[in-house]
Amino acid sequence: RFNGILLTRNEAKETIVERRELGLDDLMDGDVIVEVEWTTVNYKDGLAITGKSPVVRRWPMVPGIDCAGTVVESSNARFSPGDKVILNGFGVGETHTGAYAEYARLNGDWLVKMPEGIDGRTAMAIGTAGYTAMLSVMALERHGLTPDRGPIVVTGANGGVGTVAIALLGKLGYAVIASTGRPGEADFLTSLGASEIIHRDELSGPAKPLNKERWAGGIDAVGSHTLANVLSMTSYGGAVTACGLAQGMDLPASVAPFILRGVSLLGIDSVMAPLALRQEAWARLARDLDPEKLEAITSEIGFRDVIEAARDIVDGRIRGRVVVKMEHE
Ligand code: NAP
Repeated sequence: RFNGILLTRNEAKETIVERRELGLDDLMDGDVIVEVEWTTVNYKDGLAITGKSPVVRRWPMVPGIDCAGTVVESSNARFSPGDKVILNGFGVGETHTGAYAEYARLNGDWLVKMPEGIDGRTAMAIGTAGYTAMLSVMALERHGLTPDRGPIVVTGANGGVGTVAIALLGKLGYAVIASTGRPGEADFLTSLGASEIIHRDELSGPAKPLNKERWAGGIDAVGSHTLANVLSMTSYGGAVTACGLAQGMDLPASVAPFILRGVSLLGIDSVMAPLALRQEAWARLARDLDPEKLEAITSEIGFRDVIEAARDIVDGRIRGRVVVKMEHE
């Protein structure tokens, strides 16, 4: 038996979260058993644990969408006991029992081998949020954006996606405009690589179809009016990635930026991203993410504090990334 967190629902469909002893019988099928050594708290984990959004689609559920650890049992040809692996997404913690337990039983096809130069703690300090920031940067590059085209705006700048995106873009030579509701963190954002800080209130109200061109592109984790404003201020031929919904799932925008300025909106999904793209993203993270910057955005907690951190992330009280050390008894 081992420690974990289990989510159930009561008759009123409220989410009940409890720390419990679990057994392998509580875990769903899979061909690889991983001893979880590190995990993390993403916004989606916060939504699952608080029940604020219908992230969990199978009950009961062990939450947790990300883990790093060591294979202890495998009938998958790609993995043997002792291999170090990373798991991000694929519905783990949503439809398949997840990372918030000492052991996870997973499908080997979902696992990425730990890349050279990255250890479990680093992988989880990056987590889905950081790997999604990398996917977003890669999408802008595929669109042809380069630093000489102009600045990139990053929304939700103090969040997990935002902080990693700023560190990556800064290292790659881009001028970064960071949009945040926490201007008191301006020095921190500048130290990560931002060259200008704007208040998120500038972008959070209803957008005009077109506005003054302010940036060549954007990485948006906020959605709703914010994304509409970002699009309306993107210069000719630019591109904006959309990965999140911290303000809302709606997109009250017009087609004007697309049809009058040739702006592109690039969708980013980390959950079902194919293995080859994941491997490329992790290799790029090993190369392009400054370890000191990652450490500066990371706070470490123990597994016993995960539920509280999940509540904090939904309330916007977390800065950067939280890495969780699994406590084995
Ligand atoms: P996070 O750490 O909580 O960051 C979100 C940031 O958004 C906050 O730190 C805050 O930044 C800003 N924000 C929060 N509420 C806001 C509001 N009402 N209006 C405007 N800005 C607001 O979360 P995360 O882990 O980085 O994830 C960010 C988003 O991306 C989430 O919606 C998450 O679900 C999504 N996501 C999607 C994928 C994917 O595969 N598509 C993968 C990872 C994450 P400031 O304090 O700086 O304003």
